[in-house]
Amino acid sequence: KEKNASEPEFIQAATEVLTSLEPVFEKHPEFEKASLLERIVEPERQIMFRVPWVDDNGKVQVNRGFRVQFNSAIGPYKGGLRLHPSVNLGIIKFLGFEQIFKNSLTTLPIGGGKGGSDFDPKGKSDREVMAFCQSFMTELFRHIGADTDVPAGDIGTGAREIGFMFGQYKRLKDVYEGVLTGKGLTWGGSLARTQATGYGLVYYAQEMLKDLGTDFNGKTVAISGAGNVAIYACEKAQQLGAKVITVSDSNGYVVDEEGIDLAAVKEIKEVKRGRIKDYLNYRPNAKYVEGAGLWQAVKVDVALPCATQNELLIDDAKALVANGTMIVAEGANMPTTLEATQYLQENGVYFAPGKASNAGGVATSALEMSQNSQRLSWTFEEVDEKLHNIMITIYKNSVAAAKEYNCEIGGKTNLVAGANIAGFMKVADAMMAQGVC
Ligand code: NDP
Repeated sequence: KEKNASEPEFIQAATEVLTSLEPVFEKHPEFEKASLLERIVEPERQIMFRVPWVDDNGKVQVNRGFRVQFNSAIGPYKGGLRLHPSVNLGIIKFLGFEQIFKNSLTTLPIGGGKGGSDFDPKGKSDREVMAFCQSFMTELFRHIGADTDVPAGDIGTGAREIGFMFGQYKRLKDVYEGVLTGKGLTWGGSLARTQATGYGLVYYAQEMLKDLGTDFNGKTVAISGAGNVAIYACEKAQQLGAKVITVSDSNGYVVDEEGIDLAAVKEIKEVKRGRIKDYLNYRPNAKYVEGAGLWQAVKVDVALPCATQNELLIDDAKALVANGTMIVAEGANMPTTLEATQYLQENGVYFAPGKASNAGGVATSALEMSQNSQRLSWTFEEVDEKLHNIMITIYKNSVAAAKEYNCEIGGKTNLVAGANIAGFMKVADAMMAQGVC
């Protein structure tokens, strides 16, 4: 904690994982001797670099770029690139750390990494975004590769940014390889990648509901965010007969008791790159509220936080419990604070941690890597089916690990502990086999 005192999000993520692993270390004294914990919390490599670019007024802007290559025990580093003004080393480290366990849970051979920049793509012209992305890749290209480190999208990095970065990588390296995932369909992308995180989240939540003896049909759902994860979680939940009544962005939230009009949200966010308050132009009877407070404003069966870290706080957890919410499944990375997570779990809400429930995105990215290596493209249905099976497996493996170590809380399986243990065991085995490195 002292070494990383300036990185509160990283300490938060590490505390959660290390607490869950206590029973594992009791059972496996050899892990202690091999200092696996001390090794796993230290990134193998972290890179920070200057990203200069020229804005539309001819002025040179300077951002800071990051890539944290956290753990390559089970495969090449894999994890997204976040472009958001809040990005700093601590944020990228917490995301990279989570990614180690998430990637392990997918059952696919990918290590953990994460990167990004404090650049804000919002309000920038396409040319400015391209100038930034080209400059960013002009440094990053020397550290990544299809068998070394394969970055992907995240907040602020969508198909447009991945395209600009891929183009620059190709110019600099003169190889056409699957070095980034989330690519366009005509140049190496995978069908169903866009939908994967949101769909995967709902597939995972479906398994949770099944264990509670029910399903999505007729359930009321609250979703935060209105980005990639939120949109496709909403789409799949609606397909399964649920009524989604909220979406949000960092300015405020919408409540539509008649059910969210997803076509309107897609047009606002994917086509017009607008703000969620514009939803009222499509549905004047809906309500828009400026600021936070979504979780306390509605009574729902299922809550899917899909915006950003630490957006669901203790008072939100109390409101969800008081309103009889059955499950909370994280679509974003660490959207629920440790205190709120514990409160939900202790009060009988069945809770899924993001590293398990949002792993569908990176799993499908790994499927994109497989298709690139084989120079093949699978159909939407093939990818979707693989994704669905992976989410079921992640759920089952988490439950099995929780049962093996007697991890129950509030009368439910402790999926936080289960996911941490299941994710850790595979990485631990590989690290033990590979010696001191
Ligand atoms: P996007 O950039 O597409 O969307 C993020 C959404 O969340 C935007 O609507 C954004 O609004 C909103 N948001 C950001 N901050 C806040 C806030 N403080 N309060 C309310 N809304 C907010 O990102 P993604 O959908 O891709 O990512 C969302 C989360 O899911 C992140 O935690 C990401 O790490 C995680 N994730 C994403 C995966 C993927 O495949 N995309 C995979 C696994 C995890 P605004 O426009 O105002 O910023």
